[in-house]
Amino acid sequence: MTARTPVPSPVPSPALDSLHGLVLGDAFGDQWLAVSPDEAPGRYLARELRPGPWEWTDDSAMAQVLVRHLVVHGEVRQSALAGEFAAAYAADPDRGYGPSMHRVLRAIGEGGDWRAVTTGLFGGQGSHGNGAAMRVAPLGAWFAADLDLVVEQAHRSAVVTHAHPEAAAGAVAVALAAALAARGRTAPAPGRAGFLQQVAELLPDSDVRSGLRIAARMPAGTSVRHAAAVLGSGYRLSAPDTVPFALWAAAGHLDDLPQALWTTLGSWGDTDTTCAIAAGVVAARTGAAGVPDQWLTACEPVPDPAGR
Ligand SMILES: [Mg+2]
Repeated sequence: MTARTPVPSPVPSPALDSLHGLVLGDAFGDQWLAVSPDEAPGRYLARELRPGPWEWTDDSAMAQVLVRHLVVHGEVRQSALAGEFAAAYAADPDRGYGPSMHRVLRAIGEGGDWRAVTTGLFGGQGSHGNGAAMRVAPLGAWFAADLDLVVEQAHRSAVVTHAHPEAAAGAVAVALAAALAARGRTAPAPGRAGFLQQVAELLPDSDVRSGLRIAARMPAGTSVRHAAAVLGSGYRLSAPDTVPFALWAAAGHLDDLPQALWTTLGSWGDTDTTCAIAAGVVAARTGAAGVPDQWLTACEPVPDPAGR
C-alpha cells in the first residue's frame, strides 16, 4: 500500500458540536463526584449547579486527541492514534485516567506496540472498560453520512487501547448513536425505543447490545433510578455497565442537552463518563442550544482541534 500524505480536514460541525458537548458533560459530571453522598440527592433535586471552574477529565482529553487525529488523517490510523493518546497522557497525566490506561499509555509511550500492550491486559482478554466509548461520540458525528464507516472507524479507534470485544462494542454503539443524532438534526427527534433499537441492530452480539435491547423495552416513565439499577451506570467501569444506560438517558432527551445531563447524573455512577457519552450524542444534534451561559462559562475550555 502506498502511504498517502495527510491532508488536514475541516471538522464537520456536528463533530465539533459533539466534542464540545462531550467536554461539557464530562466536566459537569465530574464536579458531582466531589459531593458527599449525604448532600448530593438534595442538591440534585434543587438542580443546584456546582461552583466553577468545571475541569474536564480523561474522557475529554482522549476525545480531543481523536478529533485532532481525524483533522490530520481523515480516518483512524491506529499506530499514529496510539502514539497520540500516549503523548497526550504523558503531557497531562493527572486527568483521572483509569489504572489500566495508565499502564497502557505509559507502555505505548515507551515504545511498546499497541497490539501487544493492549492484549497483554487482564490475562490476554484486554480491557473491557468504558474508556473507548467515552471518547468516541465526535467520531460518530464525523462519519455520520455512512453508518458502515462509523462502525469500522469506531472499532478501529477502540482497539488501540481496549482489546476486549465488549469495549469495542460499547464504542461502536456510542458512535452509532452520535451518528444517528447528527443525521436527524433537521428532522423531529426519534422516539427513545426506536433510536435504541436502531443502534442495537447494527452491533455485534454482545452484552452491550443486550443491554441496549433491554433499555429499548423499558416503558415510558421508567425512573432514572430503576434504569440505572437494571442497566448499570458505570459503577463497575465496564462498557456493558456504562453504555446502555448513558444511551438510554441521551435517547430520552435528544433535543434537550441540559435535561439529558441532569437525567444522566441521576444514576450516580461513573458520572463524568456517563455524562460525557450522553452529552456527546445529544450535542451532535443540538449543539449548545439551550445550554445556560453559566454552564458554558464554568466549563474549562478546549483548544480548537483544527488549530495549527
Ligand atoms: Mg474521566
